[in-house]
Amino acid sequence: MAVKCFHSFALHLLLVTIVIVIGGVNSEYIEYNTTPRIVPEKINVHLVPHSHDDVGWLKTVDQYYVGANNSIRGACVENVIESVIASLLDDQNRKFIYVEMAFFERWWRQQSNAKKVKVKKLVDSGQLEFINGGMCMHDEATPHYIDMIDQTTLGHQFIKREFGQVPRVGWQIDPFGHSAVQAYLLGAELGFDSLFFARIDYQDRAKRLREKTLEVIWQGSKSLGSSSQIFTGVFPRHYDPPDGFTFEINDVSPPIQDDPLLFDYNVQERVNDFVAAALTQVNVTRTNHIMWLMGTDFRYQYAYSWYRQMDKFIHYVNKDGRVNVLYSTPSIYTDAKYAANESWPLKTDDFFPYADKPNAYWTGYFTSRPAFKKYVRDLSGYYLAARQLEFLRGRSSSGPTTDMLADALAIAQHHDAVSGTQRQHVAADYALRLSMGYLQAEKLVASSLSFLSASKSSTDEKNSDTKFEQCPLLNISYCPASEARLSSGKSLVVVVYNSLGWKREEVVRVPVSSENVIVKDASGKELVSQILPLSDITLRIRKEHVKAYLGRSPKDTAKHVLAFTASVPPLGFSTYVISDTGRTGRGLSASYVTSGSLNQDVEVGQGNLKLLYSEEGVKMTRYLSTKNQVTAEQTYAYYIGSNGTDKDPQASGAYVFRPDGARPIKSEGQAQLTVVRGPLFDEVHQEFNSWISQITRVYKGKDHAEIEFTVGPIPADDGNSKEVITKFTTTMKTNGTFYTDSNGRDFIKRIRDFRSDWDLQVYQPVAGNYYPINLGIYMQDKTSELSVLVDRAVGGSSLEDGQIELMLHRRMLHDDIRGVGEILNETVCLPDGCKGLTIKGKFYVQIDKPGDGARWRRTFGQEIYSPLLLAFTEQEGDHWINSHKTIFSALESSYALPNNVALLTLQELENGEVLLRLAHLFEAGEDSEYSVMTKVELKKLFNNRKIRKVIETSLSGNQEKAEMEKRRLVWKVEGSAGEEVKRGEAVDEEELVVELAPMEIRTFLIRFDDHIDMVGEERAAT
Ligand SMILES: [Zn+2]
Repeated sequence: MAVKCFHSFALHLLLVTIVIVIGGVNSEYIEYNTTPRIVPEKINVHLVPHSHDDVGWLKTVDQYYVGANNSIRGACVENVIESVIASLLDDQNRKFIYVEMAFFERWWRQQSNAKKVKVKKLVDSGQLEFINGGMCMHDEATPHYIDMIDQTTLGHQFIKREFGQVPRVGWQIDPFGHSAVQAYLLGAELGFDSLFFARIDYQDRAKRLREKTLEVIWQGSKSLGSSSQIFTGVFPRHYDPPDGFTFEINDVSPPIQDDPLLFDYNVQERVNDFVAAALTQVNVTRTNHIMWLMGTDFRYQYAYSWYRQMDKFIHYVNKDGRVNVLYSTPSIYTDAKYAANESWPLKTDDFFPYADKPNAYWTGYFTSRPAFKKYVRDLSGYYLAARQLEFLRGRSSSGPTTDMLADALAIAQHHDAVSGTQRQHVAADYALRLSMGYLQAEKLVASSLSFLSASKSSTDEKNSDTKFEQCPLLNISYCPASEARLSSGKSLVVVVYNSLGWKREEVVRVPVSSENVIVKDASGKELVSQILPLSDITLRIRKEHVKAYLGRSPKDTAKHVLAFTASVPPLGFSTYVISDTGRTGRGLSASYVTSGSLNQDVEVGQGNLKLLYSEEGVKMTRYLSTKNQVTAEQTYAYYIGSNGTDKDPQASGAYVFRPDGARPIKSEGQAQLTVVRGPLFDEVHQEFNSWISQITRVYKGKDHAEIEFTVGPIPADDGNSKEVITKFTTTMKTNGTFYTDSNGRDFIKRIRDFRSDWDLQVYQPVAGNYYPINLGIYMQDKTSELSVLVDRAVGGSSLEDGQIELMLHRRMLHDDIRGVGEILNETVCLPDGCKGLTIKGKFYVQIDKPGDGARWRRTFGQEIYSPLLLAFTEQEGDHWINSHKTIFSALESSYALPNNVALLTLQELENGEVLLRLAHLFEAGEDSEYSVMTKVELKKLFNNRKIRKVIETSLSGNQEKAEMEKRRLVWKVEGSAGEEVKRGEAVDEEELVVELAPMEIRTFLIRFDDHIDMVGEERAAT
């Protein structure tokens, strides 16, 4: 040590001497030359100053913003933005990118006009560039594509409105794996020229480093061919600078010391370090442009400490001359790559699953916090419906609006939000925001339905003032509106809204206090209905959760569930009346119940799908498709999560799934089986043990089974983490192949223990074959196809031929050392203590002939995403029914959207324009009838409103599509360029017909001639 000190001291003296003698310079002001631009013949090092600001993780979004709760982590985004802007104003060559609009919007609204003018200049000059530009950097495994579009649109609209800018680059640097939908939909379709990120599988990265294939052209969509391509750059390691170049005030990298009067002058030494690091990166990168990510999580809280050093590096390294270094942004870097006129390798499919080490597959978070994931999904569908209703009523400046829900949903898509990888108090913060947003939207929905159901002819002043109640806790059979005892002469009015563009017939279920109720439609005709008992398990969950979350005890009135079939027109509602006949003995007579062990085999289901139970098989449901001769057995099991005490300390945790063997669910005492048969559906209640039960339903006239599961509290007293799965086992010969969706959109082919991009070394045969599921998973062989659809994001796989499994719930007792620093052990707290979280949910199974399953997955999948919305009011006699509009559709009479089209967005914007998004639901070649070009007639969609102008835009509505296409960079691909696919033609201003090619989503801004009656004429019963 002493020797080394002596040497560096001697060197130091020498350098000082040289500087003084040669330059004659003493310690004075140095004007750093930060002007450099690209030098084509040199290696160009693009310094990209950035700060990765999580929209909630260890702290809540607001705590991060203001710098509160700093004992958890010293992070204050306000400091980042303030100090960066001061630094940019100091030197016009400095640049910065900002990414998370949730933070920037918080800052912006509190600035003076004078400050805003200055910041706008920084943006106009390109010194401050917004990239990615959503409210957050969304996760890519667990959000639904509609949520990804919505949260990006919200951010892009802010940027457009305040700055007139359009982001050019995707910047998904931190999400834990990357989806195909991100690449083409939230990339190419936004008009982005490139996409950058850090996290890919460590084996994949090693190969790409060797072969210089970190930068590729990614074609995320099979259906949309070459038009879905985007230039994609994977960083050589993480999203921080090379070692020795981090300059936050507490960082340990040596700063450049260039004052000859001070000790430790080190200019040449640091220049050498810089050049060496640049040359290392050049070795793994094509072209002579490399990007350095100058920043990482919550950096630039004191931006000068970074810019001072970067100024000096640019000055001295360029004087040295071996490489050229400049202030840059990903856009400038992208243009440089494009100008190099290189051909790039083509990448298809996606980057899932992500592993950063042999035993560390980040596939646990696909399921982490399953209740929160469902809450996000529920409100996503509700937000879609609420915006439609707001449009149909007309946006009111005095509120209520969907704005608060939009904001809450947007930040809930963050890669530490819906992913389930945040701390508990942060999860609670996201949920609180969602519930506050819901309450606003609930008021809007109620007032819109009140408005739409008001009859014009009526002179009754109270006519348009119906107070509708809704029941967000119907999933636990809690609904004060429907449970209320109907006093004599009163009845319950149920308005059922359908946000889909096609007519729908579906069984709705509401808890009621009497078994003697009947249902009539609006014309007074009594409907076939079914009365079912509320199970003990449901009653317990209902009681506990209403107490825990609403702070009150539910009345013991709900004893039964009433089910009836609602028939609802597209984008409209139907009305039903529930009344108490007072006659006893009606209800349960339609059903019968058996309990306990079976004396004989039980068969349930009257259509193509049957459920079979034998005495030894009570613990299992056997699904028999008579149409396809496939029998599937469904069971439950759990993995023990590794506790990380073996050779590798990696535990299973919030992010990582590392199983330590599977355990079947063992029987506890006598098996319980309850069979209920009725005119609308049959159902079977099974209790597998004290913490897992399910109800399986088979509806008349439908070929699928609906499974409603209840899992929890997962016992933890044995000290083991548990990850609960359900499994379907068949004899299908699936040859290691199965299919999972990408964010609820395209299906991607998966092959067990195989990756198309590299030779996979298998260390985790279970976790390494898990994929994110948002819509469903399916497998097929020569004779049949088995599909399972889900109601929220989950992880799943096919670990053996003919088998499918889903992970439904996890209770983890160890941290997986990826930063969250808290164990994922969700509990529910009651006055008498806390216990593990119980979750309730559904999945759906259907068996088809090969190639026939897509139709069900696509159309029924849309129905799962957009459940019927119920609103309740009471009436005296037939008063309400007689004085209100009881059937409504916004569409022209007898018009419906084709079965292959979904209405993703119908929203009136603040400026009165209407945002419309239409999606083709099928992939090319997926279905013989539906995978074709289809049409939507806007005149019939907007019945009674005159369209003045239709402008097609980018996916986020921030630029005209035609302009975007003109600007788009077309990249060269190695080998074949990829197929060009025909898309829908431009919309003719007279005809107003929108064409949609398979998987195409088209976005429009529509202006109407005002003052036209917005409510469609009453329609005849459909
Ligand atoms: Zn992050």
